[in-house]
Amino acid sequence: MKEPFVTEMNEVAFSQLLRLARSASHIVAFTGAGISTESGIPDYRGPGGVWARNTPPTLSEFLESEATRRTYWSERRERYPALRDTAPNNGHAALARLQDTGLLSAVITQNIDGLHQKSGINDERLIELHGSAHRIRCLACGANFSACEVQDRLELEPIPACSICGGILRAGTVLFGEPLSGESLRRAVAAAIACDLMLVVGSSLIVQPAARMPRIAVSSGARLAIVNLDATPLDDLADVVVRGGAGVVLQRLTDELLGETAQAETGWHTGQ
Ligand code: NAD
Repeated sequence: MKEPFVTEMNEVAFSQLLRLARSASHIVAFTGAGISTESGIPDYRGPGGVWARNTPPTLSEFLESEATRRTYWSERRERYPALRDTAPNNGHAALARLQDTGLLSAVITQNIDGLHQKSGINDERLIELHGSAHRIRCLACGANFSACEVQDRLELEPIPACSICGGILRAGTVLFGEPLSGESLRRAVAAAIACDLMLVVGSSLIVQPAARMPRIAVSSGARLAIVNLDATPLDDLADVVVRGGAGVVLQRLTDELLGETAQAETGWHTGQ
């Protein structure tokens, strides 16, 4: 796994980021696996990442092969408890604080880990482009189940079936070869068009169509800031790129922004 606790931060870039955030009134965060590495969830393409360990099945492999489904559920049985118990980190918490003060209008995430929800991002502001590992749904009747409920059944049923109609169950995440939910995509595009600053955090920006969101924001007049440990294909399009760990950068950004808001409010109330 990539060293997640990099604290070295380019001060000039951070000052630029702070300036952009101060002049913005509708910030939208676009997050990827990198915001969750500090919670202990490996990112996708880093050493030790999910990709290096096992490639997830495509939708057609999942549908056509019982053996694929058996392996899928067996891996899930082993791994889901750790995901269920993972806590959000300083980066998630900082975004939730920005939301609570009205500066952050939406979070578009590629993550399926549910950590933005756990940190307090409201459902109406959260767009999970690739779905959520915490929901299970039936492909036949569309019924939804909590992942914990299905997890308990895995002890006795290696390939669980829908308890209502007997159909094939799957996690509420997008598999390779599968289109994104039209509703999520529509909400993400609307948020990207409406924002005046898009703050990309912890994404390699190579998974499509999610990675189009920063371009959509820029072509609609927004500024673009990228906080990431590695270079991305959109660095040249960005107004600022901060190379640093998501937790430390977002926490400091939020502290500085909200410290100023608190000071301004104090000044107002005391008539200064
Ligand atoms: P990615 O793995 O392709 O890229 C992650 C990026 O985050 C890398 O460029 C890396 O340099 C950076 N990074 C890692 N740790 C960081 C940190 N502490 N601070 C700042 N940057 C950090 O991830 P992606 O762009 O989200 O695309 C991967 C796909 O895999 C997505 O579709 C996502 O759904 C899925 N995925 C999700 C999770 C999750 O839910 N947590 C985890 C792995 C993969």
